[in-house]
Amino acid sequence: MRIAINISRFKQDFDAMSLIGRTAEGGASRLAFSPQEQIAREFVKQKLYEAGLNPFMDPSGNLHGRRLGVEPGPAVAAGSHSDSVENGGHFDGVVGLLGAIEVMRSINDAGIQTRRSLEVISFLSEEPNRFGISCFGSRALCGKMDRALLYGRSDIKGETLSAALSSIGVSAQEIIGLNPEEYKYNAFVELHVEQGRMLYDSKIPLGLVTEIVGAYRYKVTFKGQADHSGGTPMNSRRDALAAAAEAILAVERTCRKYQDKDIVGTVGVIHVSPGAINVIPGECDIIIEVRGSTHFPKSTPVAEIKEAIQNTARQRKVEVNIETLMEDESRSVSPRVLQALEQGAAELGYPCLRMPSRTGHDALHMAELSEVGMIFLPSREGVGHHPSEWTDMGDIEKGLQLLATTLVNLAGS
Ligand SMILES: [Zn+2]
Repeated sequence: MRIAINISRFKQDFDAMSLIGRTAEGGASRLAFSPQEQIAREFVKQKLYEAGLNPFMDPSGNLHGRRLGVEPGPAVAAGSHSDSVENGGHFDGVVGLLGAIEVMRSINDAGIQTRRSLEVISFLSEEPNRFGISCFGSRALCGKMDRALLYGRSDIKGETLSAALSSIGVSAQEIIGLNPEEYKYNAFVELHVEQGRMLYDSKIPLGLVTEIVGAYRYKVTFKGQADHSGGTPMNSRRDALAAAAEAILAVERTCRKYQDKDIVGTVGVIHVSPGAINVIPGECDIIIEVRGSTHFPKSTPVAEIKEAIQNTARQRKVEVNIETLMEDESRSVSPRVLQALEQGAAELGYPCLRMPSRTGHDALHMAELSEVGMIFLPSREGVGHHPSEWTDMGDIEKGLQLLATTLVNLAGS
């Protein structure tokens, strides 16, 4: 069934969203818990309301809008996120979120009554927030947030996660008390831009995700001795930054060794203290991230990296502490949802490519509550998390048509 998508109505919403938190470089800065992201969430709530979807917030801070079906029971859902990284792009998250709302309006316009209910979900804080947690809303909804994390984790200024949550009307206590069983879905489909170049290079408009990679992340803190850079001879230094530098190279070396197994590793965060030109760094922390597919365990390279770090610390006589921030396993999507997507693409006559998602998404965590699938759209030059991120409206329209057809097929009409 082809459901007509009103792409100009979608574009109006998309353009309005792209003005919220717009940066001087033309990008988007809507960090979780920021005033800009709060404005975006109000905008989403308004759009859900206008589409007749009776918006409500769950205890984890995710916004929902439901279109009732004929039968009670678990809904068929779609959605994504409105938050962005610092100076990120306008398509990441927003296409899947505002796209899901447009799909509901288009199904309304077509006068289709579904058997199961349909639902839009706008997840809270998908991007890594200032507490070092990504996909906060979907993790919390499936019961992965505990008291220690909610009350113990604080940002660089000392604000706790629970305080940040309460500033937007979300109670840490309610998150601890929520019952994931109440949030089961029949199916969840996330439409998202690829943020890689597989579709762009192959000139295929639609990607059907087969598996979603999860990341392992660790905070590694080195403690040496801060001393005067002029008065301390080279052979008696305990330089925390030099030790961290060796750790960073160990991550690169180890992950290169396993690159044919789809392993990638990155250090994208470093803090040096005291950070003065004439003082030997006394403390340094870095955040290591390792990603990989379902075909090879990430624990293998991670064990080697940890061993290399311990050796470096011993040789350089610095203390080291390795804190696990998260260890998300990679997951395959649901064969039933993937088949529904393939069937939908065939009905519409659109070519599509089966491909893995090398980036993490809320769908990875929603897999605990639902059978999940994902649609990818081409990112120009493969760019993601950057103001120049771009996906053609024509491709978005195809993606929304596929999403609409698949949701109706899954919900039954
Ligand atoms: Zn995203």
